[in-house]
Amino acid sequence: MAIGGGFRRVRWIRSVVREQPSITCPGCGALVPDINAPTHAYIGAAPGCWRVYGKILAREYGELGNPHWHRLTVDAYAAQHPGTDSRRARQSVAGHLIALCLVFEHDLDLAYVTRLMPRAVGIAADAPWLDPPDFAGAPTVLGIAEAQSPSDHERAVLAWARGVWLAWSPHHAIVRSWASTLL
Ligand SMILES: [Zn+2]
Repeated sequence: MAIGGGFRRVRWIRSVVREQPSITCPGCGALVPDINAPTHAYIGAAPGCWRVYGKILAREYGELGNPHWHRLTVDAYAAQHPGTDSRRARQSVAGHLIALCLVFEHDLDLAYVTRLMPRAVGIAADAPWLDPPDFAGAPTVLGIAEAQSPSDHERAVLAWARGVWLAWSPHHAIVRSWASTLL
């Protein structure tokens, strides 16, 4: 069964996290396997965290049928891995924070938020570097890997994205001002 196959893969991720030496991801702070693997050019993730994220994305595109809340996974992950100050990192973080603001403070439909993103990315192009908050205590992608069912996965993603948005509260004012220009 397709969903069962997907969830077996996530359990495999959990066993890898347990069995290999771990390091702290510089973005989300999760303990992840210390592996030598590709990561992203400006999303600031440890390779072990990036690999878990890739598995989660594969599951959402595959077994879970690209659900409408998938964009929250992408927004939460990017906003929780801001990387270091560069033009692309500033634009990425600001754009994903605008999306989270539109979802959690304006209760906009996720598909509508996606349609606003080209304009959001345009606004984000001029964003300053926002000093990342401390994500201690916030959920991470590893929590999504713990999900035991599709509905559990969805609930975990919603809680994760909300937790990431709340963690960025020192910068909510500027993000709100950007988001308000889209409404
Ligand atoms: Zn991470």
